[in-house]
Amino acid sequence: MMKTLFLNPPSFEGFDGGAGSRYQAKREIRSFWYPTWLAQPAALVPDSRLVDAPARGLSLDDVRPMACDYELAILHTSTPSFHSDVRVAEALKTENPKLLVGFVGAHVAVSPGASVTASDSIDFVAGNEFDFTIKEIAEGRPLSEVDGITYKVDGRLVHNRNRAVLHDMDSLPFVTDVYKRDLVPEDYFIGYLLHPYMSLYTGRGCKSRCTFCLWPQTIGGHTYRTRTPEHVIEEMALAKELFPQVKEFFFDDDTYTDDRSRAEKIARGLGELGVTWSCNAKANVPYETLKVMRDNGLRLLLVGYESGNQQILHNIKKGMRIEVARRFAEDCQKLGITIHGTFIIGLPGETRETIEETICFAKEIDPHTIQVSLVAPYPGTYLYDQAVKNGWLVDDGKELVQGEGFQISSLAYPHLSQEEMFEAVAVFYKRFYFRPRKIADITLEMLKSWDMLKRRLREGVEFMHFLNAREIQS
Ligand code: SF4
Repeated sequence: MMKTLFLNPPSFEGFDGGAGSRYQAKREIRSFWYPTWLAQPAALVPDSRLVDAPARGLSLDDVRPMACDYELAILHTSTPSFHSDVRVAEALKTENPKLLVGFVGAHVAVSPGASVTASDSIDFVAGNEFDFTIKEIAEGRPLSEVDGITYKVDGRLVHNRNRAVLHDMDSLPFVTDVYKRDLVPEDYFIGYLLHPYMSLYTGRGCKSRCTFCLWPQTIGGHTYRTRTPEHVIEEMALAKELFPQVKEFFFDDDTYTDDRSRAEKIARGLGELGVTWSCNAKANVPYETLKVMRDNGLRLLLVGYESGNQQILHNIKKGMRIEVARRFAEDCQKLGITIHGTFIIGLPGETRETIEETICFAKEIDPHTIQVSLVAPYPGTYLYDQAVKNGWLVDDGKELVQGEGFQISSLAYPHLSQEEMFEAVAVFYKRFYFRPRKIADITLEMLKSWDMLKRRLREGVEFMHFLNAREIQS
């Protein structure tokens, strides 16, 4: 086996752009997802090491010397961080010219040729389902015999055949062993999850076809391929033992609740383990399933509402009716399930009126917390192609984040400018959070525990800094 380093490269300070973040940007408050997409192949390569530079606060100077300790380095990249990640690869290669460097992630899966030719320091890029691809390379197999990669021979591009889609998800070893070996749970924060939390996947892919959504259209696919409930429960039992300090586990599958009977079966196993857990859900889960999950430790659902306008939901192929989302929110409220709702400004069909409609909708269904993002046309998505065709991209959509790593709008419409959408994010947050009832909710939450008080005060300062920065820029 080659000595292998799996690296989430350093980039913008506090950049949540790693191998577990769907939309790579610096958040309003300090946030990091676990680098699960790197932990999966790391679990297949004995004696490897996973380094998550942004979450650990490591700079390029900190990671550069590591190059000499390894023969193979796998860097997870993204569209917003690609140029910065190339500079990291070049620094590693300068330090150790014999190091074999490979890139993984949705960006290189979508544009393998352009990615591998971006620098002489990138030896290969691996496309979808790269877990066993990396294992085979680490075993020393010649690149010509490894499915799923693109590399260069004498300046000529070689695309090997695609890696077969992985259906036996139980064949992936537990990531929690890698987390234990290489990561520090206290490094990972998500504003709406208890701290410390831990995230992992129980499957890949999402059957929905939302036009903006990156992973199902690139690395995950539209079939929800799942681990067996027994496999998940076994890992959770291990995780509980390995990480007694973890207060909440998060199943970050695209739409964990798509397979309801499986979700209920896993929930019952989790109930027996006595863990607190949360997951992603579409706003269409029936009351009965919600109840089974709640009765077995479910605390929170992360729900992508996206918009409060039905036509926009049609435009983005969300497959969701507003009245169903409303009923779902009521059911969660009745059951005491906390909701973190996510919304997007600037989806096709957006106008000043629909932004207003969405703000009113968010206040009406009243999730405990919200996230408001700007529409992000990632290469590889239907939305990106649609934006190119209709001339919506600003500056060819080259930039998805600005200098500090915060998201910028890279779409504009004849009737709605980039600046208006940018400003709408801060307006949305203010109108949602600066309400007496919401302030009372959050104050009550803070008063329940000293840890929560300290945390919310820190996040409050970060959030106000974010809002002020927006006002200065707009
Ligand atoms: S339901 Fe969620 S995860 Fe699935 S395609 Fe739509 S936005 Fe993406």
